[in-house]
Amino acid sequence: MENKSMWEATANSNNGRPQLQGNQECDVVIIGGGFTGLSTAYHLQQKNVRTIVLEKNYIGSGASGRNGGQILTGFIDSMSSLAKKKGLQTARQMLQMSLDSIDLIEKIIQENDISCSFQRSGHLYAAYKPTHLEWLKKEQEELERDFNYRVQVINKGAMQAELKSDFYHGGCIDENSASYHPFNYVLGLADTVEKCGGTVYENSEAIRMTKDKNQKIIIETSTGKIVADHVVIVTNAYSGDLHKTIARSVIPVESIMIATEQLPDELVSSLIPKERAVFDTKHMLYYFRRTPDNRIAFGGSGRSIKNDTTRLFDNLQKGMNTVFPELKNHKVEYCWSGKVGFTREMLPYIGQLEDGTHFAFGYAGHGAAMSTLMGKLLAENILQENQGDNPFEKNDLKPIPFYSQHGKAVGLMKYYFKVKDAIS
Ligand SMILES: Cc1cc2nc3c(=O)[nH]c(=O)nc-3n(C[C@H](O)[C@H](O)[C@H](O)COP(=O)(O)OP(=O)(O)OC[C@H]3O[C@@H](n4cnc5c(N)ncnc54)[C@H](O)[C@@H]3O)c2cc1C
Repeated sequence: MENKSMWEATANSNNGRPQLQGNQECDVVIIGGGFTGLSTAYHLQQKNVRTIVLEKNYIGSGASGRNGGQILTGFIDSMSSLAKKKGLQTARQMLQMSLDSIDLIEKIIQENDISCSFQRSGHLYAAYKPTHLEWLKKEQEELERDFNYRVQVINKGAMQAELKSDFYHGGCIDENSASYHPFNYVLGLADTVEKCGGTVYENSEAIRMTKDKNQKIIIETSTGKIVADHVVIVTNAYSGDLHKTIARSVIPVESIMIATEQLPDELVSSLIPKERAVFDTKHMLYYFRRTPDNRIAFGGSGRSIKNDTTRLFDNLQKGMNTVFPELKNHKVEYCWSGKVGFTREMLPYIGQLEDGTHFAFGYAGHGAAMSTLMGKLLAENILQENQGDNPFEKNDLKPIPFYSQHGKAVGLMKYYFKVKDAIS
């Protein structure tokens, strides 16, 4: 169901990149050409460390080129819940890191002139039920009291200024969130890596990892071999057999998106007047926004127990038309899907395994922001320049039990959440 995304179809011109041929050497070989891998390469190249990025398909072909482009503050879990689970100091540090990640993206884009329609227009977390609005109000109080962090909660009456829709009961606005054209950002990152002296290969799947007698890493593809001092595996929800411990520690969950045809300016401006990145409090959430070329891009949960792809997209379109009845007579031009990486704790993991492999993954739908920062932290780990504790550091990955059954488990969970949305 991985059809070409609207982002790819509307991306800046891209000549593609060569395939690895023959033998090469570098300081750090990075497996995975998404935000995390390219950010790692970018930050290493800044320090004149020689990097090679290997991408199995093409840059942005994983989640980085298929997402909603919503660069959000926070995490999938609320900050109050994280404070309970991890302690207030750690939760504060996590929130700060999510804010830093957005600043970092903005800085990279500005300094390297990346054309990707980045804008700080904030997010709207829309309440699906009246009880959800009460929860958002409580969360707002705790954010202000415990985190000294301000968001604004609005009642249903004030929603018309945010959305031309009666579907929601209010919402929470966070002005620090942003959005971009994700495919243009990932392409821009790859160009920047190359300008800084790094190399990026496409159609170059890393199929085997071994070490030579000098403990150098050897990565083989079907057309060549790389010898390096360090290896970073950032294949996230697209991990295969290359490193089983990593693959079995990330749970891939499918998410689907549709995008309308280009809409008249007055219509699209009236639907989301402040151009917020919008997502809602449903268990099977919707997320949506205006695109730089005047479409509505609308996302939701992917494959469930029944594998009927057409029905999933039809249902998502029905959902979009329920939120915005004015879209009923407008065509959906693009449908695509991708895999979102989750960890057991629903928090990102970063670290180095006993065999020396560096990794980061599992941003749980918040990777548009966090992945660029994780790439920077991976670079710092390799250079041994990291300062202080990183609350996401995990050096002993515990593979998820019954991993081969995770597809069924995710399907059942989605079914359960669908029922919960309907009744609670
Ligand atoms: C439909 C959808 C909507 C989303 N919406 C949002 C959103 O609005 N906001 C948000 O914050 N997050 C969102 N996300 C999540 C976000 O896109 C990811 O967290 C982020 O892109 C992860 O980046 P990454 O570099 O870690 O992984 P990826 O971009 O997935 O990159 C991993 C790459 O590794 C490559 N690879 C795998 N195996 C090998 C190998 N053996 N050799 C070489 N290469 C290999 C893959 O081809 C892939 O390109 C969404 C995800 C999806 C799928």
